[in-house]
Amino acid sequence: MRRISFLSPGAHQKSTTVGASQGGTRGAANCVLGPPARAFLLRQPPPNRIPAACDARPCLVYGFFFGGQAAPFWAGSAVDKDAKRLSFDFCAGKGLLLSCRDCDFCSAGKGFWADVPDEQWNDWRWQLRHRLTSLEEIDGRLKLTDSERRGILLASSRKLALAITPYFFTLLAPEDPDCPVRRQVIPRAEELLRAPYEMSDPCGEDKDMVAPGLVHRYPDRVLFLVTDRCASYCRYCTRSRIVSGVGEQHLSVDIEQALAYLWEHREVRDVLLSGGDPLLLSDVRLRELLGRLREIPHIEIVRIGTRVPIFLPQRVTPDLCGLLREFHPLWINIHANHAAELTAEVRDALGRLADAGIPLGNQSVLLRGVNDSADAVRDLVHKLVRARVRPYYLYQCDLIEGTDHLRVPIEEGIRIMRRLRGYTTGFAVPQYVVDGPGGGGKIPLNPEYLIGEEGGQILLRNFLGKEYRYPSCRPLQRNPGNTPHPAS
Ligand code: SF4
Repeated sequence: MRRISFLSPGAHQKSTTVGASQGGTRGAANCVLGPPARAFLLRQPPPNRIPAACDARPCLVYGFFFGGQAAPFWAGSAVDKDAKRLSFDFCAGKGLLLSCRDCDFCSAGKGFWADVPDEQWNDWRWQLRHRLTSLEEIDGRLKLTDSERRGILLASSRKLALAITPYFFTLLAPEDPDCPVRRQVIPRAEELLRAPYEMSDPCGEDKDMVAPGLVHRYPDRVLFLVTDRCASYCRYCTRSRIVSGVGEQHLSVDIEQALAYLWEHREVRDVLLSGGDPLLLSDVRLRELLGRLREIPHIEIVRIGTRVPIFLPQRVTPDLCGLLREFHPLWINIHANHAAELTAEVRDALGRLADAGIPLGNQSVLLRGVNDSADAVRDLVHKLVRARVRPYYLYQCDLIEGTDHLRVPIEEGIRIMRRLRGYTTGFAVPQYVVDGPGGGGKIPLNPEYLIGEEGGQILLRNFLGKEYRYPSCRPLQRNPGNTPHPAS
């Protein structure tokens, strides 16, 4: 008998005991298991072996044999029509499913809301109306720790409100407080602590606010905070002071004053809409805002920073995508921190945005117990690029008050980056950055690949730690003894 761990939405660390033979057993997707005796590429199943419930194509699976025994087996992917939960058939024994390239964008289904008709469940306004916002609504659905219970009672009324869409709630592991998705949205008592270096406005945005809601720090671009509301609230939010309505400040937004500033400042060519979450604005308000921005001739691009596709993929309707595509060039950065957040619903929502011609990037925050390992970041970025999203930034967690329990030291972040660069697709590697505390702007953090200069040569180190030399390439002196060769 061996112990294996199953990873699936809402059950990120469950484990179970299995025997060497798994004939006909069903299990959840994304299984992770102990050291394999041997790996092999699974063959395709014969058509007549595909389970009746299967409505997806058979999986191409990497599987394992135990004890060096060889025996053919295959897996089919299947969606249980009632539970909407993806499962797999492990057939013909002697092996276990490791991962499935086609099927691991799983839907967690409706969970506690199984009786809600699809029409309502898929309505983003229904999701917002039924957000979980209190201890009474969460207790009993999650097995809460004392720290979580106190956090919900105290932190969510003093620091940042508690709100979780029913859809996102189904991704939380009910029994496991260390679930990486749960850690992001369920408050803990530690939020009431304040480390000496923590601040309420760690990025120094208030001092660069040139109109209510408009932050102008960099020469050619502005940050436009258009709302203080989000679909769900992240416990490490850098704008906790103004987001959600319970922090120490109130965000006042004056669209007319902000637009007047932008008309006057011809150096601004790039507007980033953020908040809060701009995609919570109604289609009517969003169209009005984007239209007014597009009337300003020197504004070249508009960007939207949003976590709606992750918290509330139902909001990404065909109407919204049609609206957004009227205002190109428009860019969107989403915010996902863990691979388990990338469900079938999210993948489909991102596909609709990409089909509308919108370039998609992702900004993650490096968080203790969420994505603080190279494996976790690699799983995330691989899944992002499969969902047509380019990993853009990996943020060092800002020094926001009450987040010390989630913060990862920069040295650890650098170690993670060192295990990514060179080991996976170049454009799947995000740039690790820290926002200079107090308003220094983004500062890139990189492992040391440039060692120095010696004897007119640049000393370099590659991802394996090997050293190389590259000539300094200074312009050649134009004299008779040193004439460049003409291009051939
Ligand atoms: S979605 Fe963004 S703005 Fe909203 S709580 Fe999360 S980090 Fe803050």
